[in-house]
Amino acid sequence: MGLSRFSLRTTTRCELIDITGEVRKNLSVSGIREGLCCVYSPHTTAGITINENADPDVKRDILSWLGKSVPASGNFTHAEGNSDAHIKTLMTGSSVMVPVHQGDLVLGTWQGIYFSEFDGPRDRKVFIQIIG
Ligand code: ZN
Repeated sequence: MGLSRFSLRTTTRCELIDITGEVRKNLSVSGIREGLCCVYSPHTTAGITINENADPDVKRDILSWLGKSVPASGNFTHAEGNSDAHIKTLMTGSSVMVPVHQGDLVLGTWQGIYFSEFDGPRDRKVFIQIIG
């Protein structure tokens, strides 16, 4: 199996959506037991990152800190008016690589894979490439 993808609909301007379950589903379908899983966002105002999935306050703190660090009302040149979203995407990155071992993602106990939306709500895509 090569490249797969799924769609998601984000519901607010800035949010972190846990997509770990969706990535695991794709890994399971691939049948690959040992390898590498790349999760990639093809967008310039939404990215992919790994962070804590236990305490929801962490997610809130990250979004709050990003909002304060790069305010939407900042003094930007880009006419579309969403430069803050481009910069926040730069900060979370557009992809993650997770090792695959014994048919599962090698994630730490408290880690989850997140789709990070910074200019929603929108219809978005996530690509997954699993290499055995
Ligand atoms: Zn833009």
